[in-house]
Amino acid sequence: MKKILIGTHNKGKFKEISYLLSKKIRKVSPIKLKIKSPKETGKTFSMNAQLKAKYFSRFTKLPVISDDSGLCIKVLEKKPGIHSARWARKHGSFSNAMKFILKRMKKKKNRSATFVCSLSFKYPRRKIVTVIGKIKGLISYKILGTRGFGYDPIFIPHGKNITFGQMSKFRKINMDHRYIAFKKLKRKIKIL
Ligand code: IMP
Repeated sequence: MKKILIGTHNKGKFKEISYLLSKKIRKVSPIKLKIKSPKETGKTFSMNAQLKAKYFSRFTKLPVISDDSGLCIKVLEKKPGIHSARWARKHGSFSNAMKFILKRMKKKKNRSATFVCSLSFKYPRRKIVTVIGKIKGLISYKILGTRGFGYDPIFIPHGKNITFGQMSKFRKINMDHRYIAFKKLKRKIKIL
């Protein structure tokens, strides 16, 4: 495989997925090909990852990898979950969405949360392969760190005492939900 379309308009995700893929593969963005995002109508991360892979495949002959991911907070009934990007849009920015979450969790003792990532891979005219990766952790009391993207500054992975937003790029990329999902995908699709 010489080229792959990474089916996302999210620059943070594009960078992380590019890093995980073999250096020998050329990574193509739907932004460059002027392909818009699909409507995410699925009820689960996996349904949305598959929907994206099928959608982007309609516009290209390239193999496609797509991701659907989000933050599930226990005391908020697993929200924002599949609506993680939508919450940020609704509140005007990630910073506002994180402030909203921290406010709602002010008196909550249980700060458990899970970052979930479903990855789908579609080779032209072949069946889609979908996997899921999860990383457990805690929601911090404050917004901490400026690295990464999205909700990184309020998520402390289990066993660590800093947020993803405080970690170096490489440390986060080598342990997060996308990395865990990618490892599973690579076991099934060796050419990645
Ligand atoms: P979607 O998969 O395009 O619906 O967007 C998922 C959203 O979840 C992203 O826009 C981020 O808000 C959030 N998200 C997913 N993965 C991460 C991550 O690794 N760090 C921080 N936020 C993430």
